[in-house]
Amino acid sequence: MEGADNGPVNRPVNPEPLLRPRPPSPVQEVRDERFERRGVRLLLKRDDLVHPELPGNKWRKLAPNLRAAVAAGQRELATFGGAYSNHLRATAAAGRLLGLGTVGIVRGHELAGQPLNDSLARCAADGMRLHFVTRGDYRRKGEPEVLDRLLAAAGASGAYVVPEGGSNPLAVRGCAELGRELRGGSDTVAVACGTGGTLAGLAAGLGPGQRALGVPVLAGGFLGAEIRSLQERAFGGPAGEWALAEGFDHGGYARVPAALEAFAADFEARHGVPVERIYVAKLLWALAALADRGAFPRGTAVTAVITGRP
Ligand SMILES: *Cc1c(COP(=O)(O)O)cnc(C)c1O
Repeated sequence: MEGADNGPVNRPVNPEPLLRPRPPSPVQEVRDERFERRGVRLLLKRDDLVHPELPGNKWRKLAPNLRAAVAAGQRELATFGGAYSNHLRATAAAGRLLGLGTVGIVRGHELAGQPLNDSLARCAADGMRLHFVTRGDYRRKGEPEVLDRLLAAAGASGAYVVPEGGSNPLAVRGCAELGRELRGGSDTVAVACGTGGTLAGLAAGLGPGQRALGVPVLAGGFLGAEIRSLQERAFGGPAGEWALAEGFDHGGYARVPAALEAFAADFEARHGVPVERIYVAKLLWALAALADRGAFPRGTAVTAVITGRP
């Protein structure tokens, strides 16, 4: 049990509304001529509506970790991200909602002396303590000694640690629920990938004959191995059918060239759905391009997972 010597304690908050299972997010069909002329139906899985402050896969990945942290009596969460990380923002919001302290270890020591960007300012406003580290240290945070040193320097040695992007086995199993919600639905379920944790879980939850398709938003080609490793740790081996559609990173993480911006604004205007630019815009662009190339057989349906909001 918790004693009185646990340091500063945030206001106690009822954790239930955040931690309880939530109803399946809605699926919405949209009529889009770029798909219709290829005989393909397009559906949107509105995971952006799953929680007002932790949208989409961020809620699916964090909720099981938050349950574990609360059950273990932890008072503080520590996690990692870049200066524009949706995961840092979601963790900071979760900390505020649950009355837990949060520490964000941020890539880029040079940012330490500068005004916070909007994303980091929101983290700070939610009570997250930000600790900036060099890119070299950040890259090596998987090494236990480096991790211990970074946590100690951030004053977070006893914290519950959630990895970068939130993708650990608990998170991947949480994302399997996303796949289960889509069982018996479309042939292809597509999702944008950062760490690949969402795809790893989604593929495992889908039913027979369905396949998950991941669109990496970072240039690289390391992601396939990462997804296999995440599935190994979460499920003990490969789970479900999945593939990656490479070549849609538009120059790298958080790059939004004018053509992509125009595509996203047009999609919003056509369908009235807000399009998050870093991940979701690249996913929808990739699906339109693949449909145009005839990559989806006529008579099939594709579901795009809308993993977040602008
Ligand atoms: C974090 C995020 C992703 C990437 O999820 P991974 O599990 O890291 O692949 C996709 N879409 C949105 C909107 C995100 O915020």
